[in-house]
Amino acid sequence: MAHHGTEVRHKALTLLRDGRFNADVARMLEVPVGTVGYWKHMDRAKRGECPGRKVSSCPRCDGRDLDRPAYSYLLALYLGDGHISHYSTHRVPNLMIACTESWPGLMEECEVAMKAVFPENSVCRVRRTGCSNVKVYSRHLRCLFPQHGRGKKHDRLIALEPWQVDIMRAHPWEFIRGLIHSDGCRVTNWTTRMVGGEPKRYEYPRYFFTNKSDDIRQLCCDALDLVGVEWKITVRAGKPFNVSVARKASVALMDAHVGPKY
Ligand SMILES: [Zn+2]
Repeated sequence: MAHHGTEVRHKALTLLRDGRFNADVARMLEVPVGTVGYWKHMDRAKRGECPGRKVSSCPRCDGRDLDRPAYSYLLALYLGDGHISHYSTHRVPNLMIACTESWPGLMEECEVAMKAVFPENSVCRVRRTGCSNVKVYSRHLRCLFPQHGRGKKHDRLIALEPWQVDIMRAHPWEFIRGLIHSDGCRVTNWTTRMVGGEPKRYEYPRYFFTNKSDDIRQLCCDALDLVGVEWKITVRAGKPFNVSVARKASVALMDAHVGPKY
């Protein structure tokens, strides 16, 4: 029997986890289909996913523990920059959060939250030019993110289910962090004023959350209300554009719990 290197096996496992058929992988990598089947079996066994044995568990389907603060953060990342691949019969669906290379700390935080919410599934980074997507495969994504649907989020109703509202209300700061980390930012505006005949520079830090969906902007406002942060909706071209936090005390609260991207 020919010996196939670790590299080929890793390639095969990546393809298999992506939902490819054993026969396709065998053909692509020129490996006997039986070998591919064996690798798949070993990989599943290692991850506790052997068919007929325990398939990876789900907080919604079989009540396993859910890391609620991590979920609150991940839910907000999903609402901001997340995408769930379409369900089809032969592919395991995946959740992908788009991250920028310029914020390695955020990418790390996203990965940590994903691992906490999906402790039995493998989380990986997929590099593209200028960005990396953080990805997890699970057959239970729709259980945890029932907002998944066809088309863009701003073209459809986005409403949290009661259990999600409970988690968001219990962990509002994690939710706000997730929103700012995905579709928000902290900026510093400045101006000069004459003080005693001298021009003096004044800086005004503020936070913005920009999202096209009225429902998602409203969720941001609801969460800010929960923690006593004052906000305003700014309008661009006659349409609500973003949620702005500019009052000094509110910015200070945001700085203590969210801070700039990193
Ligand atoms: Zn489930």
